[in-house]
Amino acid sequence: MAHAKLSPSASPRWLRCPGSVRLSEGYVDAGNKYTEEGTTGHELARTCLTGGPDLQGPQPTSLVGMVIPSTGWEVDEEMAGAVQVYTDYVRALPPGITWVEEQVDLTTWIPDGFGTVDMGRCIVEVGELHVVDYKHGRGVLVSPEENEQLMCYGLGLLEVAEMIGPVSTVHLHIVQPRAGDGEPKVWTTTAEELHRWGDEVLRPGAELALSPDAPVVPGEKQCRWCPVRGGCAAYAVFMAGVIGGRFSELVVFEDIRENVLPDPELLTPEQLAAVLPHLDALQRWASEVQSFAAEQIMGGATIPGWKVVAGRAGPRKWVDGAIVEVILRDTYRLNKDQMYDHKLISPTTAEKLAKAGTIGPQQWKDMQAHITRTQGGPALAPESDRRKALTVQFEAIENGDQ
Ligand code: SF4
Repeated sequence: MAHAKLSPSASPRWLRCPGSVRLSEGYVDAGNKYTEEGTTGHELARTCLTGGPDLQGPQPTSLVGMVIPSTGWEVDEEMAGAVQVYTDYVRALPPGITWVEEQVDLTTWIPDGFGTVDMGRCIVEVGELHVVDYKHGRGVLVSPEENEQLMCYGLGLLEVAEMIGPVSTVHLHIVQPRAGDGEPKVWTTTAEELHRWGDEVLRPGAELALSPDAPVVPGEKQCRWCPVRGGCAAYAVFMAGVIGGRFSELVVFEDIRENVLPDPELLTPEQLAAVLPHLDALQRWASEVQSFAAEQIMGGATIPGWKVVAGRAGPRKWVDGAIVEVILRDTYRLNKDQMYDHKLISPTTAEKLAKAGTIGPQQWKDMQAHITRTQGGPALAPESDRRKALTVQFEAIENGDQ
């Protein structure tokens, strides 16, 4: 697949760190199992949305077991269930002119720029454009709000849609069923605002990113997925600042020994507030250091005091389940109850059966009374998090009552 030098998916990086384009020249992204999995999910969605008129191709859940030729991956139930959420969502959008996996031209703003829109729909009568992006990942929840990648796609499709009729409102959607609460998210803006962003932010940002003296500007958002962060001096200095600067501010206790970080229970609320925003970056950096050190040793380098050992073995499994089935049945004479684990289907599977019509609408409604779920435990979140803060009740504990 061709890649634009300034791709929309990398725009959150190159708009913040224009110099990253120069530093990553020649870097070849070999991909990994997550990108392959994501490509498989997108291919499945495309097959289902283009396999019939008006997006009404096959249901993803009916294609479990299908092998996607471009990746060689087999569609499993979890993938099919996630893609089903996406196809259900886009099929339920108001009718209009529709695009699926549409390559859009972005050269008005980005030299040689283009991108692929997962799904778009223009409702000419009301001047509205919907741009939907499917995200298969579960690791990092992506918000559509002022999301540069989606805004690029929005601009590209807007150019096409405005040739059909005037557009005033643009809805940018992200469907990411496996992350957060799994609910699709939408951010609504205006065509005018999107054009303004394209002219005032995207075009100058792209020009700067392609200039020979583009500045290298580290930061949590841009460095997170940067392919060259392992060898980037600015990133190393940035992380040293996070660790050395922020944490050395905390070494204010007289009983702190050298190289020992303070006991969390001794930190003041102000110190906790200073440290918490940087912990994600610190944890990522720590695991990157471990991976890099392991790679170095595997490549023949010596790191004093360290070695690489075999990790914990995975769960036991049959080499060939079909052969074992024959042995258990024909040689050992086990009956079916002894040979197989039977378990009740989960509410998720029951819901799939309801969607497929095996369980009727009223029956599925009745089943709701039999479904429960445990509440999630308390989780720390920044004040900007959309979820409501838990109400904490304090009980006065008298001295000696503990
Ligand atoms: S690691 Fe960060 S600072 Fe370095 S090039 Fe990449 S985005 Fe820029």
